[in-house]
Amino acid sequence: MTAGLKPDGIVIVNSEKSADEIGIDTETDVRTIDATGIALEIIGRPIVNTTLLGAFAGATGEISIDSIKQSVLARFPGKIGEVNVQAAEKAYQLTTSTKRKPHKKIKSRKKSAIPKQSEKIPTVPFGKPGTSEATRTGDWRVFYPEFDMDQCTRCGKCQESCPDAAINERTLTGRDAEKAQERAEELEKAGTIKKAAVKKAHIRYELNPTYCKGCGICANECPIQGIKMKLEEK
Ligand code: SF4
Ligand code: SF4
Repeated sequence: MTAGLKPDGIVIVNSEKSADEIGIDTETDVRTIDATGIALEIIGRPIVNTTLLGAFAGATGEISIDSIKQSVLARFPGKIGEVNVQAAEKAYQLTTSTKRKPHKKIKSRKKSAIPKQSEKIPTVPFGKPGTSEATRTGDWRVFYPEFDMDQCTRCGKCQESCPDAAINERTLTGRDAEKAQERAEELEKAGTIKKAAVKKAHIRYELNPTYCKGCGICANECPIQGIKMKLEEK
């Protein structure tokens, strides 16, 4: 995974292997960082955003680790923020201690090479818009979310937060709905769930494995920690 790319060529790759072991052959300065391993060790989930941000700061010096700390703690106060800061700091230290390979300095563009506004700028052949359904992001998955429907309050936050619309809401009917209602009433009597959740017992949240890429955002957003990220067995 490429996390940061500077114009003069620094690439950060999320991997426990070195660039040589991966077989990356380039003039560009390539740093590898086991962001998934760090995130699992410190955050307890394979959410690598802040870890890669720390690595970016360490490798490029474009942003300071103190700015990252302040921003993360302002956005995520409490324990979640603290563990994310620890992960960012670890990645920062690991990348700053990696010796930077010399790389070619890119010459600045000559004035004449910059097209005038009136000149036609050639279009770049990126992918066509509106093709997200055709992109089977499920193929990227290493971890998958497991929903605990006994705890679930049916708030729908996981579904709203999924960037790939990979969580479907299903309404149970017939005997399945009756069984879900009976189970919810038992849980309410035991004091595990509240009445509001019993009323929505017929609702189920289910994963669409074709599009779930295992990012863990839903697990992070679930207010009752009712989603656990599990290692996919392939
Ligand atoms: S792990 Fe990510 S992609 Fe998968 S359901 Fe959760 S939020 Fe969506
Ligand atoms: S965020 Fe958690 S509690 Fe809310 S619907 Fe999803 S699994 Fe249930």
